[in-house]
Amino acid sequence: MLKHTSHTIAILNAMGNSEKCPLCHLWEKDEEREIGHLLSNEVVMDPGFRDKVLLAKGFCSYHSHKLFKAIYTDFREDSLGLALYFQGIADAVLDELVTISSYTRETPKRGGTTSRIRKRRLDFSNLSSGVSKAIQGKQACPACQSLEASDRAHLNTLLRMLDDEDFRGDFRSSLGLCLPHFASAFSLLSQTSLANSGEVALALMGTEISHLQSVGQLLSEFIKKQSYEFLNEPRGEEVKANSIALNTLTGVEGRYSGS
Ligand SMILES: [Zn+2]
Ligand SMILES: [Zn+2]
Repeated sequence: MLKHTSHTIAILNAMGNSEKCPLCHLWEKDEEREIGHLLSNEVVMDPGFRDKVLLAKGFCSYHSHKLFKAIYTDFREDSLGLALYFQGIADAVLDELVTISSYTRETPKRGGTTSRIRKRRLDFSNLSSGVSKAIQGKQACPACQSLEASDRAHLNTLLRMLDDEDFRGDFRSSLGLCLPHFASAFSLLSQTSLANSGEVALALMGTEISHLQSVGQLLSEFIKKQSYEFLNEPRGEEVKANSIALNTLTGVEGRYSGS
């Protein structure tokens, strides 16, 4: 019998309230919370967290734009925090570029009756790796790190729920997972000890196959109705075919890893 906690209830709610993969639904909710959290005074003014942002040389492009959008498009958050993050990153990159450029500057040659200037021979491969190091962080984007940790916790909860026979039955009649989360579920399953891991693998695989078959049928119906002879046919569920296929094949926007 499945023992419910706030973690299992979150998975059940995501399965009941979304037409998407439940883990993608939870990712979006976590991301919205995370963006607000990152721009809160409490986090922005935390020197330890600011150091973490600097170590990563800021947020990834995707999350930088998300932070910007939360302020200037959605008007949900205050702009000061983002400016402070950006200032720290720009200063850090500038310092490193100034150091690199001091090695590449033209230098006077000693000796001779007139002082001549000549260029030092540039080592372009060292220069290129120095520029990459100056710009790239030593750690992943802090927002990605936090979301990936939550995602892994949700996946772990789902696998433990699937160990329960009754829940496996409910899961088999659900929409299943997007392909990136399906791959992650199998990867985590191989590292997790469950009482019924074989049954869990079969439930994941069976649900995914029937979900992909439904997506294929919807796409066929949608494509068929684009032709002239079906122009006046009433439209149905297939109008959502591209949206459902987008979530199924690529998962939620911004989730890159398949591990
Ligand atoms: Zn997903
Ligand atoms: Zn990120």
